Amino acid sequence: MDLISGESSKVLRKQGFRSLKLMSVDMEQELGNEPEPFGADYGRLDNGLVYYVRRNSKPRMRAALALAVKVGSVLEDEDQRGVAHIVEHLAFSATTKYTNHDIVKFLESIGAEFGPCQNAMTTADETIYELFVPVDKPELLSQAISILAEFSSEIRVSKEDLEKERGAVMEEYRGNRNATGRMQDSHWQLMMEGSKYAERLPIGLEKVIRSVPAATVKKFYQKWYHLCNMAVVAVGDFPDTKTVVDLIKTHFEDKRSSSNPPEIPFFPVPSHEDTRFSCFVESEAAGSAVMISYKMPVSDLKTVKDYRDMLAESMFLHALNQRLFKISRRKDPPFFACSVAADVLVSPLKAYIMSSSCKEKGTLASLESMLLEVARVRLHGFSDREISVVRALMMSEIESAYLERDQIQSTSLRDEYIQHFLHKEPVIGIEYEAQLQKSLLPQISASDVSRYSEKLRTSCGCVIKTMEPRSAATVDDMRNVVSKVNSLGEEMKIAPWDEEKIPEEVVDEKPTPGDVTHQLEYPEVGVTELTLSNGMQVCYKSTDFLDDQVLFTGFAYGGLSELPESDYISCSMGSTIAGEIGMFGYKPSMLMDMLADLETALQLVYQLFTTNVMPQEEEVGIVMQMAEEAVRARERDPYTVFANRVKELNYGNSYFFRPIRINELRKVDPVKACEYFNSCFRDPSTFTVVIVGNLDPSIALPLILQYLGGIPKPSQPILNFNRDDLKGLPFTFPTKITREFVRSPMVEAQCSVQLCFPVQLTNGTMIEEIHCIGFLGKLLETKIIQFLRFTHGQQIYSAEVSVFLGGNKPSRTADLRGDISVNFSCDPEISSKLVDLALEEIVRLQEEGPSQEDISAILEIEQRAHENGLQENYYWLDRILRGYQSRVYAGDLGASCQILEEGRLRMRESLAPQTAQAALQRILPHPCKKQYTAVILMPQRSRFGFLSSIFASSPETRYIRDTKILAGIAGLAVLVFSIWRYSRK
Ligand SMILES: [Zn+2]
Repeated sequence: MDLISGESSKVLRKQGFRSLKLMSVDMEQELGNEPEPFGADYGRLDNGLVYYVRRNSKPRMRAALALAVKVGSVLEDEDQRGVAHIVEHLAFSATTKYTNHDIVKFLESIGAEFGPCQNAMTTADETIYELFVPVDKPELLSQAISILAEFSSEIRVSKEDLEKERGAVMEEYRGNRNATGRMQDSHWQLMMEGSKYAERLPIGLEKVIRSVPAATVKKFYQKWYHLCNMAVVAVGDFPDTKTVVDLIKTHFEDKRSSSNPPEIPFFPVPSHEDTRFSCFVESEAAGSAVMISYKMPVSDLKTVKDYRDMLAESMFLHALNQRLFKISRRKDPPFFACSVAADVLVSPLKAYIMSSSCKEKGTLASLESMLLEVARVRLHGFSDREISVVRALMMSEIESAYLERDQIQSTSLRDEYIQHFLHKEPVIGIEYEAQLQKSLLPQISASDVSRYSEKLRTSCGCVIKTMEPRSAATVDDMRNVVSKVNSLGEEMKIAPWDEEKIPEEVVDEKPTPGDVTHQLEYPEVGVTELTLSNGMQVCYKSTDFLDDQVLFTGFAYGGLSELPESDYISCSMGSTIAGEIGMFGYKPSMLMDMLADLETALQLVYQLFTTNVMPQEEEVGIVMQMAEEAVRARERDPYTVFANRVKELNYGNSYFFRPIRINELRKVDPVKACEYFNSCFRDPSTFTVVIVGNLDPSIALPLILQYLGGIPKPSQPILNFNRDDLKGLPFTFPTKITREFVRSPMVEAQCSVQLCFPVQLTNGTMIEEIHCIGFLGKLLETKIIQFLRFTHGQQIYSAEVSVFLGGNKPSRTADLRGDISVNFSCDPEISSKLVDLALEEIVRLQEEGPSQEDISAILEIEQRAHENGLQENYYWLDRILRGYQSRVYAGDLGASCQILEEGRLRMRESLAPQTAQAALQRILPHPCKKQYTAVILMPQRSRFGFLSSIFASSPETRYIRDTKILAGIAGLAVLVFSIWRYSRK
């Protein structure tokens, strides 16, 4: 008899972490059972290949595989620069046993996107091939392993294969020649100066890509691709590990690589006492930025003490980030955003990288503030209170990880084993790790943490860079800032940190809970729908996909499309302004110290509805300044200029799609913006809130009633729209063919193409039509890539087809309007020709139809994506929302979801070469050459020889919650809210 019900066993599990015994830790002890990785069937074949196999059932019936090779660009000789990456590409061209066609077919059969760099990657130190395979058909697993085995020693590297692949690699090379790419390249060189790494970026040299002989590529492959430098990893929902180990043996055992493999050399990166400076001026740069890197050798992670040091380091970075964030929210801040993270750059080298973005001409002030904060920690340390906030945060992260231990994704486990093989990172198992952290975290004091500031000194491997769109700061200026802060530090003239008071509770006075006036269950989708006494509709679905994820979305009909054009610009800024000022009755910086759980999240929604955002003059000043900088940055970016022109053309210059300009921004009325924002979130009876994730109804329901049910209903309805009366978006697609070149100054030649067709779906079998257009998009994407790349071998790297149907009204009866667009990047010389070729291929599909093989491949991709989605909260949230917003919804969510799913299945059943052909004729203009727009972004050679510059996008600070309020798009006011206390990489 089962005495423990599902719910109480969950409670027991929750207590699991609390009852985990503290360990008495011996600091010198080795971590776990190293070198044996935890949980894997692990071994080495006679030819040297290492294998890791593990059973894991998330997601069900899938396996994550990889071939990890300790070979990267750093091993290349001068005439081979770029060859490691070319080998990776050639793997997908052909091997001894498989042709290109076989490999493409195989990837389609597992529902994977085609292409090198989709399923593989090359870095300075390694090359990794990855496959994600369904295991419900055992032959697929066997074939996947056999393909990895072919990559290990049987890549063909013929002259013809190489000629065909040069174009794609060149296009990738060119794709990296934009502002960010160039900045990253020279950043890399400065960081690695004095080491071989400086001259070995994986993408290599143009000369080599264009002309390296096949023999040179083959020589590199044969020399370094040795089985003793490789591991195969398989983590998945296998019945047992032995069968998989046997498959690995079957496919790999006979593989041989050259005898006497050369030892893989170690290339040190020397440190330096002098601070290295660079000022980059980059006309295309998206803003001004400062980056300080403190380099150091990678530290060992072998013993418990090493692990404790790693925890202390992590606490240091967390605590410093909290301060930096708070500074960014002050009046007249030195930077808009600033954060610090640790990053392993290449095998021997890691760095603490601190980066900020700031206003133009603000780089020196930003640099000074960053250096000052590091010095402040060095002089005064963090307070016990700051460290206890960080400790609680980390404790809650490890608790979540421990409670979710049976929910770890196979891909995450695979990545851990890859790191174990490549970088000797121990894999110790979450049970042991949780116990270790629980025992160690309380022992780490504020002074232990603060000590890490000693590693951040300008006299030890430090590289400082600024990046500006127009030159302002010089190296001398920067040097002066450094010595100024250093002497302030030496003279102890830096004051301690001034702490802000934070609220104990978000809601001062608990609201009176509302009641449920109506309750419905929809067992077919596992959803409960409540109507609360204030009129709010709340729909929730409990899942067990992830223990610590709960997603919220709420929507009401209305939104920006209902405003007169004259109010549009001010009101569209409402959410930006409110977001910066604080929409929950507190400044954003005050809420960041609180730990999010379901109750806090619901309290925040309550606050959103019951408090007013009141713009104070100085706050608005900061926000508008940030907005202005963002607009300026966008206007400098050639791609934004291009994207804006595309929108202007396709939507008839509609104000709704036009990007906001500086002069318009200055006309924004912040009071009106906030009033509009406030009125959007006032009347609970207009909202439907959908909650998906791990919720226990017996705990969640009282909270929902208190905080969502407790929102008072206004005496008069506010912004209460009937969906059938809403306006559509104001736009018109051009009726004639338009082809246009956008010429933009670019430092290096790059070209982007967007080809776009109008789409109108007429009422009738609309549900199938909506599914159908999704299938057609995928079909066009696959066929255009195949046609351009394989038939013509042209210089095209990738193509993407996207469908936009947002132009319609939410009405239940009107036709749907939107567009379908094909985007690709290519060599500028052939862009016009490729547009013609793409049009030709679409016409061919309209006239002759696709093949049965094409249709099967598309169906397979869709089915796999659907199955994967059913195990994810996001997918369900989207499904439920679509159920509510669908035109077939008439008060019964279950029925609406069922009709949608039946439509999908009917579409799948009926999809055949003839029906797809008919749909292409019906949905697109027929022939498609009749009505389209093609916009091509072409380089206008810049006259100035601009210096390249830095700026890797600033490392993202991970926050405990992520809140986004979108006050209205296309007929909807949308509230997006998600709590995810712990997110694994
Ligand atoms: Zn590539």
